[in-house]
Amino acid sequence: MTEQVIRGLGVSPGVVVGPWLRFGNAATTSADDPVSGPVDQELARAKSALAEVADDMTARAAKVDGVAAEILKTSSMMARDPGIVAAVEKHLLAGTPTAHAVHLAFDGFADKLSALGGYMAERATDLRDIGGRTVAVLLGEPLPGIPAPGYPFVLVARDLAPADTAMLGDSDVIGLLTSEGGPTSHTAILAKALGLPAVVSCPDLDALVDGEPVLVDGTTGEVVIAPTQARQDAAREQAAADAVRLQAATGPGHTADGTPVQLLVNIGTVDDAVATGPLDSEGVGLFRTEFMYLGKTTEPTLEEQTASYTTVFEQFAGRKVVVRTLDAGSDKPLPFLDLGTEENPALGVRGLRIGTVFPETLATQLTALARAADATGADLWVMAPMVATVDEAANFAELARGVGLRKVGAMIEIPAAALRAADLLTHLDFVSIGTNDLSQYTLAVDRMAGSLAPLLDPWQPPLLDLIAMVGAAGAMHGKPVGVCGEAGSDPSLAPVLVGLGVTSLSMSAPALPAVRVALADVSIEQCRAAADAASAAANPTAARAAAARIVGRG
Ligand code: PEP
Ligand code: MG
Repeated sequence: MTEQVIRGLGVSPGVVVGPWLRFGNAATTSADDPVSGPVDQELARAKSALAEVADDMTARAAKVDGVAAEILKTSSMMARDPGIVAAVEKHLLAGTPTAHAVHLAFDGFADKLSALGGYMAERATDLRDIGGRTVAVLLGEPLPGIPAPGYPFVLVARDLAPADTAMLGDSDVIGLLTSEGGPTSHTAILAKALGLPAVVSCPDLDALVDGEPVLVDGTTGEVVIAPTQARQDAAREQAAADAVRLQAATGPGHTADGTPVQLLVNIGTVDDAVATGPLDSEGVGLFRTEFMYLGKTTEPTLEEQTASYTTVFEQFAGRKVVVRTLDAGSDKPLPFLDLGTEENPALGVRGLRIGTVFPETLATQLTALARAADATGADLWVMAPMVATVDEAANFAELARGVGLRKVGAMIEIPAAALRAADLLTHLDFVSIGTNDLSQYTLAVDRMAGSLAPLLDPWQPPLLDLIAMVGAAGAMHGKPVGVCGEAGSDPSLAPVLVGLGVTSLSMSAPALPAVRVALADVSIEQCRAAADAASAAANPTAARAAAARIVGRG
């Protein structure tokens, strides 16, 4: 086969070459399959298959930690849901063969969730995944999922369910290639967390022949099918040289001519803090506190929160920790904060708006943070998510300062806040740009919508324009401007962000060394020139190319 180059969205940096294998698909079922036995007996069989799947998820959750463990525990709870058993029984009573009854039960719930869109639609993928696993158990077939050939390979899939991405760390997968999914999908976030090069939203994958070698460049989004031996050798040499450079570079971030750029990590749980605390970073740039409470039906008490924050701060003693207050709602619902049903949850009560509906919850969290900071002497910075207006920023700052918090800021995730960043900063000590939501609201694209992923590309020139406005506002006030969305972990974008006025970048820990090296290679003048060139481009592809001409490989 001759070499063929295709292109998707690079979402997790690095180059990898290897044979590729396709993700194992779920077994199919049909209403015409033979009915195996009486309803009672078949219901018992279905229940036992569901329990086996739930136990498997729980066991796998125990082997991983952080976000991966939370995802698997949630899947295990879904498999134990009595509503599913009731739906299976209904289909069995109607004379449906058992495996098909299970398939229909899960599909029915998944369809309802899909129709709701956003976060709920994402949960539909999880439900279908659990249904597929239960069907495989009933039919005695191999579980759908990541192949285990016993040698390193590049995994090719349409998109991965969270439960599958959670198992990537324990597999032979060395790189990821998907036809769907966007820069903020589970696949992208976990690939980055594991340091696996990944390209998503890549067309034409159906034509691939199993086992062919493929080259995946997660930095540029380039994918080479059946690369020539010379290209494979060059890629392996490049990867080895990159690895040596990454290991050799240490310490605080800076450009080649010494402009400091703080390099920070994103965390979501106490376990994340324990795992990333010992690594070479300048602290935490985003602690997503709501991740500790996803799936919890009771509100964490002041004492519980104080204890968790204290442990987190202890892991980063002497370094900065930026904590975000609860960003509940939309894609991150917290069961103990009942927001009712909303037509468009991404445009509804979420982020700081939660504080208006549940003022006590916000007050308790701020008090717990202040107490934990007092107890540990932490360099604590606290910011509110989803701030839209100057008044919201001013009110939040007053509340936070009222409980003794010293560094108070806001996330810039809504175009309104970016446009008025200079006004917001008159009340705040810093801002941090959440590029995941800022893209979603600037381009009017649901951040979970795989098919629209190219519009969410962080190199979109209009997004760069808004970042430039925030950077200029920060420079005017002499106050820090961070980026803590997924864009902060793209090594080729890092010089552009710095050129736009960003003073710190926060990312998943494995992405940090590559960003450090990318910045150490370029001067601040090159960063500014790359920022100007990318912003002047007509589209993300042209923006990447324009920046690469100034700052090298891009
Ligand atoms: C963002 O929106 O970029 C961000 C960092 O917040 P989250 O992804 O948690 O919404
Ligand atoms: Mg956000």
